[in-house]
Amino acid sequence: MFKQLMTGAIGLSFLAACEAAGPSMPTGIEGAFEQAKSNEAELRVIIQDMPKGGDIHNHLFGAVYAESWLRYAEEDNMCIDKDGLAIRFPTSEGCRAPLVVAGDALKDQNLRNDLIDRFSLRDFTPYAGWGGHDQFFRTFGSMAAMPSRFGDMVADTANLAGRQNIAYLELLHTMELFETILPMVAGLPMTGDAETDYNTLMESEFGKELPNMVARAIKDTDTAMAKVNTLLGCGSEQAQPGCDVEIRFQNQPVRTLPKSAVYAHNIFGWHLMEQDSRWVGTNLVAPEDDFISLRDYMDHMEQLGFLYDTLGPRNISLHAGELWLGLVHPKELRFHITEAIKTAKAKRIGHGTDIIFETDYEDLLKLMAEQEIMVEVNLTSSEQILGVKGDEHPYQIYREAGVPMALSTDDEGVARIDLTHEYIKGVHELGLGYDDLKRMTYNSLKYAFLDAETKARLIDDLDARFAEFEAGFK
Ligand SMILES: [Zn+2]
Repeated sequence: MFKQLMTGAIGLSFLAACEAAGPSMPTGIEGAFEQAKSNEAELRVIIQDMPKGGDIHNHLFGAVYAESWLRYAEEDNMCIDKDGLAIRFPTSEGCRAPLVVAGDALKDQNLRNDLIDRFSLRDFTPYAGWGGHDQFFRTFGSMAAMPSRFGDMVADTANLAGRQNIAYLELLHTMELFETILPMVAGLPMTGDAETDYNTLMESEFGKELPNMVARAIKDTDTAMAKVNTLLGCGSEQAQPGCDVEIRFQNQPVRTLPKSAVYAHNIFGWHLMEQDSRWVGTNLVAPEDDFISLRDYMDHMEQLGFLYDTLGPRNISLHAGELWLGLVHPKELRFHITEAIKTAKAKRIGHGTDIIFETDYEDLLKLMAEQEIMVEVNLTSSEQILGVKGDEHPYQIYREAGVPMALSTDDEGVARIDLTHEYIKGVHELGLGYDDLKRMTYNSLKYAFLDAETKARLIDDLDARFAEFEAGFK
């Protein structure tokens, strides 16, 4: 109701402005949008109600806000490291000094504030030797939760989405890696030849355990999604907004781990995607500029290409070109996007920020446009992690080349943002108009890794949502 009133108020003030300015002003949503551009609060009111299709680059652990991590810690009797500002798992004897039980430690508001700041970029100002990149990636080592919180995290994130008229989430999540795959394969010798290394992994204990891991991941996903339904009251009269959000997952191997662990986790993901239609894609995560990520980059691409050719195609989106001049040696800026597409068969690129540094980047842009390789644009993330802001971002280069793009949040909890914020940022910093936002909204479903039937249903639903939304501005 409040939102309707606000929208109505803007509509009225806009009509008044129209009459004063004469008939040449744009009308309807276009006109309201143009007028609201100069007023941050009015723009947010419009955009938070605007249908936003999907958020298809969204890391589940990065999506959860610090306050939720703290709540889980209190309820699960986790431990707080007050000096190190971190949540830690208890031992069988509970929290041993200097760790303190979360329920006790979190009675201190100052400590809460410090933890929220540590788990995010809230109030963060870069200082000598410590930038946004460092602050961002440190958060993931500071937060911890019981695996049983998987469903809680999805429910929290779905609710945030549902309240902003987002219909679809593609959540990146890591399963089985640290508990089972990593200890099993860390010591296995890798040659760098994708076929030889595949055989080594499959002939090891990992190959034998693989069916069990996949079965466990499917069961854990069942449990999590059942919990989502319960927590959100789906199907009841008290159903929360997250119930209307379609959820899918991408498997996310960690590219800074030993090559054997990345490969094994990719193989695991390939089988998981085959057996469970909720798992729709794969994606490599962790800093692309880490020395191991850089050293093993081509091996990772060849692993994915080998799996694609031998076990069958899967949907692949890759963080590629999330780099910038100064962060790495210039030679690292020249090939990551190219190889992600040509060798690893990526259908979507996450970030792609360094495109203009790639060798023969104009040919690459042509290829991306022809093959409709979509770029997932994460504006706040690019600014916080890479320091790339405003027209440094290659949005316009991609746009002129005809490469499809969609806006996404990347890590909305860590960044303390939401998708509405990213749309607004696009308006202010890239000069996006209503049509641009609408086109990217449709792209976020058109290029989603959904089965054809669900995709068609969601696009039909998006048409209806836009019709209803725009009718409010006639
Ligand atoms: Zn990301």
